[in-house]
Amino acid sequence: MKLLEKAIAEKGRVFEGDVLNVGSFINHQIDSVLLAKMADEICAHFGDKGVNKVLTVEASGIALAILVAERLGCMMVFAKKSRALNDAGEMYAAECRSFTRPGVNTVIVPKEYLGSDDNVLIVDDFLAVGNAASALRSIVEKAGAHLCGMAVAVEKGYQGGGDKIRKEGVDLLSLAVIDSMENGKITFRGQL
Ligand code: 5GP
Repeated sequence: MKLLEKAIAEKGRVFEGDVLNVGSFINHQIDSVLLAKMADEICAHFGDKGVNKVLTVEASGIALAILVAERLGCMMVFAKKSRALNDAGEMYAAECRSFTRPGVNTVIVPKEYLGSDDNVLIVDDFLAVGNAASALRSIVEKAGAHLCGMAVAVEKGYQGGGDKIRKEGVDLLSLAVIDSMENGKITFRGQL
């Protein structure tokens, strides 16, 4: 998506450890107009696939996921990274090694929010090596739900998670695919 690539090129910052900071427009301060256009693009791809639930993981996937769910007219559910005192009932759980923070989280979704009748679209802000995607896919599987596909704002293609998911036959839509961030220079897939 050219508009997103342009925003990344202009406002994204490459940090040590292969991390792209998009805090000024996607995941801390949020450009709602850009995110709405991103959600439109995702819905143009998945709008006729019968999605009845959008699944993401807290926190930075939530903004995009909720805009997608609003357009598809369905619920959005997010996996929490820890159980709060007000979280009741049985949970689906999956381990997830974080790319941007040290350690492993157990991400949880209440069983009452996901089940075998659900046709799920996973939405997230980033796809790197694919740990978050694997954890969410495992939760969909445990729920006996059908995975309709995955949409991410930014795929760091050179980290391999996206290609692995495509090889497994999942319909993966990445709005921007970065092929390299060497020496702080961002190159997008398909860019000469
Ligand atoms: P993965 O699990 O695919 O390795 O990484 C995806 C998750 O890690 C996303 O949910 C996202 O929050 C975070 N992440 C991975 N790479 C980046 C990055 O370069 N920048 C930011 N802001 N988040 C990232």
